[in-house]
Amino acid sequence: MPELPEVETIRRGLSKRLIGQKIKSITVLEKKSFQIADEDRIWLEESVIKSVRRRAKVLMIDLDSDYTLLFHLKMTGQLIYREPNSELTDNRNFAAGHPTGDWLMDLPNKSTRVYFEFEDASKLFFNDQRKFGWIKLLPTEKVMEQKFLHELGPEIVDFTQDKIPEKISESTYKQVLSAIRRHNNAPIKAVILDQKVVAGIGNIYADEGLWGAKIHPATVVKDLTDRELRKLLREVKASMTRSIESGGSTMQTFVKADGTKGNYLDLFANVFRREGLPCPRCQTEIIKIRVAGRGTHICPKCQIKH
Ligand SMILES: [Zn+2]
Repeated sequence: MPELPEVETIRRGLSKRLIGQKIKSITVLEKKSFQIADEDRIWLEESVIKSVRRRAKVLMIDLDSDYTLLFHLKMTGQLIYREPNSELTDNRNFAAGHPTGDWLMDLPNKSTRVYFEFEDASKLFFNDQRKFGWIKLLPTEKVMEQKFLHELGPEIVDFTQDKIPEKISESTYKQVLSAIRRHNNAPIKAVILDQKVVAGIGNIYADEGLWGAKIHPATVVKDLTDRELRKLLREVKASMTRSIESGGSTMQTFVKADGTKGNYLDLFANVFRREGLPCPRCQTEIIKIRVAGRGTHICPKCQIKH
């Protein structure tokens, strides 16, 4: 489930904590999750972390050895960073990704697949209940040549900048619009979920963007004007920006001040997983339908099919 904004939130949190850290050991509890040969793991245990990057939903940790660790969280992945001898809610600790109570448990636990220990005794745990996620290792210069990265469409704006750009560039609009128009008979929701058209939009931000732009998700592309498509991209971007700026799905937003569990979707979502609740614009009850094989949340009054 983690989408681009969730992975960007992880990148921001880990950048502050990992750069300059030396890896002391790597413990692999599930081989399927750690797709790196044993002989490589051995020399990794001396590497220093140079930078933390992201492309779409792939997190990349660059090492001083000119190799890069790639992480894909898939459905249920989480990264949890813990300082030794610290209170769980200490600001130096950080957890993000798929939101579950694992963030508050003693680690490693039954969902822990791999963990890294650093020279200062802090640890980074890769937890993944369903084991679809993975960690790989590649020479840094080969990373962008990988098919699963090379094929991706553009991102709406560069979310990795400290200050997220206010506007989508004209060249990005043109590139994405022409890619969308190549699927003229397909429902718009299916098209914006296609990672080759535009990278990093999943179910949450598709539903939020379509609601923002007042477009019914089953509308076929040829029935939409360029103006409507531009509005849709702006709304997706606005929703992603709100998610990143609110801290997204992190331990800090998961545990509310009164000790109860928070839902990060409440921080930015208007329709996603809000069926039965009133539309924030017109108060009509939000409903859940199926479009392009995916559960889809809409306001039946604001979002009329063309
Ligand atoms: Zn409405």
